[in-house]
Amino acid sequence: MERWDVVVAGGGPAGAAAALSALDTGASVLVLDRADFPRDKVCGDGIAPEALDVLAGLGVDVAALTAGYAPAPRLSLRSPGGAVVERATHRPSSVVPREVFDARLLTAALDRGAVFRRHAVRTVRPGPDGVDVDGALTAGVLVGADGAESVVRRALGLPRNRDDRMAVALRGYAPELPGQGGTQVLVTTDQRWPAYAWSFPLGDGRANVGYGELVSGGANRAALVEGLQRLLPGVRPEGLRAHRLPLSTGRPRQPDGRVLLAGDAASLVNPMTGEGIFYAVLSGALAGRAAAAGAAAGAAHRRALRRRLGPHHRSASAASAISRWPVVMDAAFRAAAADQRVFDDVVALGLADGRLTARTLAAAARHLRPGPP
Ligand SMILES: Cc1cc2nc3c(=O)[nH]c(=O)nc-3n(C[C@H](O)[C@H](O)[C@H](O)COP(=O)(O)OP(=O)(O)OC[C@H]3O[C@@H](n4cnc5c(N)ncnc54)[C@H](O)[C@@H]3O)c2cc1C
Repeated sequence: MERWDVVVAGGGPAGAAAALSALDTGASVLVLDRADFPRDKVCGDGIAPEALDVLAGLGVDVAALTAGYAPAPRLSLRSPGGAVVERATHRPSSVVPREVFDARLLTAALDRGAVFRRHAVRTVRPGPDGVDVDGALTAGVLVGADGAESVVRRALGLPRNRDDRMAVALRGYAPELPGQGGTQVLVTTDQRWPAYAWSFPLGDGRANVGYGELVSGGANRAALVEGLQRLLPGVRPEGLRAHRLPLSTGRPRQPDGRVLLAGDAASLVNPMTGEGIFYAVLSGALAGRAAAAGAAAGAAHRRALRRRLGPHHRSASAASAISRWPVVMDAAFRAAAADQRVFDDVVALGLADGRLTARTLAAAARHLRPGPP
């Protein structure tokens, strides 16, 4: 049977990063995706600078990934109670349609030597010497980077996230908000909390707009559209599509063995913001490297994930738990409005590997007050 050192299921950001880092170890790499690229992926299209740092570390020309799309150097946040903070972020984010970004990133991996095949993975059977994929090929190590509904994760016997640790969001494209410029806008609400809408400018007069909340809230498509229109009145998006976000508060334990999980398949989405691309490329990069350990890859990947993201995950879980009370969010946003360093800490916690700092906790406590903001 056909044999590859590393087979990657899914050619999104996690899969492309896994392929790139496995290639660096000298492995032969096959990427399988059920879709041909370019393909759309329902997303806010916001890419944190830290995600590009990970890709630059893998030798990717990140300027080419974002070419043609203006950076977004500012972020505006509205708290559930209505407190608004707008500031420059420490570095600009990028907003690139995933149809473009993912195809460019996968091409970088293919240019480096990975092979792509259009194939929907259905069955995965780990054995002592390799992983049988659909009875058609054998992988020394299989990386499951097949997204929020991961087949590979299911094959490991790992259940999907509970509904209160899974979000669902709807997105479309609309003209920028009046005067929006290069500002990413996030609007939270205490109705159906935790929930928020966003408008992320692409730099060509259009914006990616959307709305999301927890699956446990029971929202259907009509309720998501209603949430979007309530928080971004007057915005009439086209191409609305919904998708689930497995939050890191429900992430499974990476098992031992030859099957690794990365990105949404590993439930790495930030529970505060729904951002997942940074965690996808980081975990993909770690998986590609761990794959060199063969039968010991699972344990190596688990250790690497814990070392790199453990402290952040503990902070994000704690922040997510205490932000259950909207007044806490109001206080944190007021504190961020008063102090750029608190703002930077909050952004790093929400978009990258930041922690819940003593500075943020103390500042939020000082700004905690009952009643309207
Ligand atoms: C509405 C919405 C807005 C979001 N906004 C943002 C944002 O602004 N910024 C941000 O950082 N994150 C955002 N996220 C999260 C982000 O989209 C994900 O975290 C990210 O796409 C995860 O990357 P991935 O490579 O793990 O999975 P994906 O990007 O989902 O890629 C998985 C790939 O696997 C393929 N696949 C699936 N099943 C199989 C199979 N059986 N066999 C073969 N291939 C398969 C799919 O075709 C796909 O190409 C948002 C998510 C949603 C739903």
